[in-house]
Amino acid sequence: MFDTVLIANRGEIAVRIQRACEHLGLKTVMVYSQGDAGAAYLEYADRAVCIGPAAPGQSYLDKTAVLCAALASGAQAIHPGYGFLSENGEFSQAVTDAGLTFIGPSADCIRRMGDKVAAKQAMRDAGVPCVPGPLGALPDDKQEVLKIAAEIGYPVIIKAAGGGGGRGMRVVTQHSELIQAVNVTREEARRAFGNPELYMEKFLGQPRHVEIQVLCDQHGNGIWLGSRDCSLQRRHQKVLEEAPAPGIDAGLMERVGVRCVEACMHIGYHGVGTFEFLYEDGEFYFIEMNTRLQVEHPVTEMTTGIDIVEQQLRVALGERLSIQQSDVRSLGHALECRINAECAETFIPNAGTVTRWDLPGGIGVRVDTHVRAGYKIPAYYDSMIAKVITHGATRDQALVRMRTALAQFHVEGVSTNLPLHLQILEDSAFKNGAVDIHHLEAWLKLKQGRS
Ligand code: ADP
Repeated sequence: MFDTVLIANRGEIAVRIQRACEHLGLKTVMVYSQGDAGAAYLEYADRAVCIGPAAPGQSYLDKTAVLCAALASGAQAIHPGYGFLSENGEFSQAVTDAGLTFIGPSADCIRRMGDKVAAKQAMRDAGVPCVPGPLGALPDDKQEVLKIAAEIGYPVIIKAAGGGGGRGMRVVTQHSELIQAVNVTREEARRAFGNPELYMEKFLGQPRHVEIQVLCDQHGNGIWLGSRDCSLQRRHQKVLEEAPAPGIDAGLMERVGVRCVEACMHIGYHGVGTFEFLYEDGEFYFIEMNTRLQVEHPVTEMTTGIDIVEQQLRVALGERLSIQQSDVRSLGHALECRINAECAETFIPNAGTVTRWDLPGGIGVRVDTHVRAGYKIPAYYDSMIAKVITHGATRDQALVRMRTALAQFHVEGVSTNLPLHLQILEDSAFKNGAVDIHHLEAWLKLKQGRS
């Protein structure tokens, strides 16, 4: 077992994990790059170890550097957070081979679910409905590819088997554009993910992004923790999330949740995970599984009252789940706004020093962040600097609390997307709930047209 955890990540999630470790009496080692040297949040850990230059490839993504830091510092477990090495089967295997605990599922599960083609196959075998399209990877033969698209019916979406983070996807609306789009996506996939394998599925016109959080121990027990709606997206990336997904029949939701847990048992999954679905016309279609903690996990924590990171650590320690499915309740509603250091109009990230940092507070308000006044945002990483989460007895109350929280959140020195979030909260379609994944981009276009 372990008493010291190395946190192989940075920023808000490193702080989040450190706190959960401390609550369980575990010691922590944080790794950092030269780009994060001197960051105040590193002081929370019992030890901080520099693992390389600012460029992620030479630090947070350097498997050997992270593993050596763990071995040298006496940590017996590694928590990968999200992004970076969190869904890298090779890394998970190397950690296990070194005699340490990888806080996450087995390398086999990560590899299987990380390959979206294999994941779809596994889900279909487990009886989880998937987006229409063939099960296997796209062949090289052009005529075959054209035939597959014609069978699915346009528009189709071409996706990289190894893709992630909203990249490696291309929508094709007509026959004449297909082959060119396949070639470009294949090249992108080869370069970005080191895997040229592609697959094709129906591009759904007005779906919502609805996902299910699961939690499984190493003794064959699993539960699902309700739904989240992450339909507010820009360029396939989530901007604002909520729990539960509004307006979906509870019976249907439960059937899908139970299926997800069964699928976990089927593949021998343990740890936390998320099944992502597109939801359209009352039907759920599986798109992928994330085999790690997700950015938006706090909305589920707020509605269920379950500390997901603490549970993740407990199951990694080999404990049996102490929560039964019948204990899981979803109370009220929670929202999360991702606050990025970026221009609210152009979305271009801006690094710089935060000169004023006044956080909101009050009942039902939670802020997950690593930033303080005087913090210098490095240019090398994701631009997210905080997550504002609000909880209320109803969705309307969570919305009202979010409006006040964002209005009382004052940041100076760098520009942020706070003004954009405040405008989104005033959008009547969003206020009504249940907008589709294309809504935000259409709304932004309209807004740009007006200004
Ligand atoms: P990633 O791993 O890069 O996040 P996903 O497969 O989860 O990729 O898809 C991300 C987003 O892309 C979805 O939330 C959805 O908005 C959009 N998307 C993916 N597949 C489809 C599809 N078949 N039809 C319509 N939109 C899709």
